[in-house]
Amino acid sequence: MIKGYEVVVGLEVHAELNTKTKIYCSCRNSFGLEVNTQVCPICLGMPGTLPTLNEKVVEYAIKMGHALNCSINRICKQDRKNYFYPDLPKSYQISQADIPLCQNGYLDVIMEGGEVKRIGVERIHIEEDAGKLLHSDKFDGSLVDFNRCGVPLIEIVSKPDMRSSDEAKAYLETIRSILKYIDISDCKMQEGSIRCDVNVSVHKPGTPFGTRCEMKNVNSFSAAVRGIDYEANRQIEILEAGGTVVQETRRWDDQKGISVSMRTKEDAQDYRYFPEPDLLTIVVPEEKVKFLKDTLPELPNAKIMRYVSDYGLSHYDAAMIVDIVEKSAFFEKSLEAGCKSPKLLANWVLGEISKFMNDGRAIEDTALTPEKMAELVNYIADGKISNAAGKTVFDIIVAEDRDIKAIIEEKGLAQVSDESALENLADEILSANEKSVSDYLSGKTNALGYLVGQCMKASKGKANPGVMKEIILKKIAEISQK
Ligand SMILES: [Zn+2]
Repeated sequence: MIKGYEVVVGLEVHAELNTKTKIYCSCRNSFGLEVNTQVCPICLGMPGTLPTLNEKVVEYAIKMGHALNCSINRICKQDRKNYFYPDLPKSYQISQADIPLCQNGYLDVIMEGGEVKRIGVERIHIEEDAGKLLHSDKFDGSLVDFNRCGVPLIEIVSKPDMRSSDEAKAYLETIRSILKYIDISDCKMQEGSIRCDVNVSVHKPGTPFGTRCEMKNVNSFSAAVRGIDYEANRQIEILEAGGTVVQETRRWDDQKGISVSMRTKEDAQDYRYFPEPDLLTIVVPEEKVKFLKDTLPELPNAKIMRYVSDYGLSHYDAAMIVDIVEKSAFFEKSLEAGCKSPKLLANWVLGEISKFMNDGRAIEDTALTPEKMAELVNYIADGKISNAAGKTVFDIIVAEDRDIKAIIEEKGLAQVSDESALENLADEILSANEKSVSDYLSGKTNALGYLVGQCMKASKGKANPGVMKEIILKKIAEISQK
């Protein structure tokens, strides 16, 4: 709430689907290839060519529909959205107007504090992407790369249910995570595979919604947060000064941190939508809709909840692991491989493993397998080696395929938990440090740490500190009773 105004946000997310081929032709759907090499008469919009719908696109969109709790329109059509743009050679985009493939869903997002916010999903429809204009100092004017023409997209339209930029960010992050888990999009924002348009309005609670402005060109989640905050403040300033907000489309300039007016909002009918005459009605068999629902993998929010309830992880740690598909897969495979301590394992996944992944390395490119990880964590969980020794072993097994037991022996890392050996050590240290013992008995509790430290030092770090401490305490109690 800013100055008594409530912010109302709706989002339209465009996600490129990672199908092998484009939506209406057999050209490759791949990013970063030489300009204008992945084109054919169909995606170039040559007169007389006929599109054929890629069945995978429908499947992928239905999967997302299920993940967002939508009802699926098994029978629907595709429509032409007419507009001129230099990167759209047909002068129309094939999309879906009145009957989208999926509608009336919702998404529960978990906010930072753990509370759940439900956001309505109005619709998900399929459509084709346009080409890309290239601007450069090296040439005058602009050039067009048509490779992206006909790349399949889904557009996910939310209801205006978000009340802050934080909620919008949580929604976007959850959508991205789902897209990755159901494996229908690469979600690479820097390559433009997810983009969003943001609708923002402000009003005083209890009054009707204010006039909304749509912001285009929002290419990252952090830009969406900045754009929403900027736009809300801009509208509040206008209203506070006694003015009225004009309904319009604005462009977000992330470098300058401002939005600028592009055009006053055209009505939908200006696009003169009409049914695409070159494509058949889409009819999806009921069994297929059901199959796609039944084969949906576990979704990220459910995973987070399960990690918290079954493994006792904190919500934060669970979310951090689930955020990256590869981390979560490695975590689960290590548990399957017999790892006894999920909590200890989580620390390794979020610590050492995240560290080398942040350096751009993949787990598969190392010698570390889930089986090795499970074995290493078990050595630590059983008190056979210390955490610090574990780090030494970890660095070796990441680099080469070695036997953990052999490394522990070779480096002399085994922790001594054998009580009689530790008792002898304790006797030695206690008799050499009588002053510390009497200090401890007179209430100077720090002396205990010193004594355990001396034992650790004498054992060259191999004594199990937990067992050592207990033995020292037992021995001191015996001394005090003498
Ligand atoms: Zn093509």
